[in-house]
Amino acid sequence: MVKPDCEKILGKLREQRSRITPQRRRVLEILCETDGHISASEIYDQVQAHNPQVNLSTIYRILEWLESAGVVTRSDLGEGHVIYELAARGMHHHLVCDRCGTIIEVGDDILDPLRKLLLERYGFQAEIKHLAIHGLCDSCRPRGG
Ligand SMILES: [Zn+2]
Ligand SMILES: [Zn+2]
Repeated sequence: MVKPDCEKILGKLREQRSRITPQRRRVLEILCETDGHISASEIYDQVQAHNPQVNLSTIYRILEWLESAGVVTRSDLGEGHVIYELAARGMHHHLVCDRCGTIIEVGDDILDPLRKLLLERYGFQAEIKHLAIHGLCDSCRPRGG
C-alpha cells in the first residue's frame, strides 16, 4: 500500500480551484491517517471530537466532493455499509461474504480478463473502481459431493 501524502492531495485540489475549508482539510487528514477503509460515521465521530457543531450531512457532502475530485473512492458493501478510501492507495476490490461478514481484499488484476472481454465483444471500455463482490467465502460455501 502506498502511503498517501495529504499535502500533495491538498495541492492538487487547490489546482482544481477547490476551496479548502478547515472541515474539508480535517476530513482529508483523517482519510490520510486511516490505514484502509473508513465509514462516514467513523469520520464524523473523529471530526466531532474537535468540532462538536459539525453534522453528518456535512461529512457526506465533503466525501461526495472528494469523490467527484477523484481523491476518494467509495465501495458499497451492502446493508447500508458504505466505506471510503483514498484513491492514492491503489486500486483494489472486495469480496464480501454474506454469511460471516468476512471481507477479502483482492488486486485489480482479477478484473483484467473481464475488461478485455467487454472491450472485445462490446467495444466497451469498462471503468471498474472499488468493487464489492458478494457471495460466500471458502469456509461458508457449500461443498459439492
Ligand atoms: Zn477498498
Ligand atoms: Zn463466510
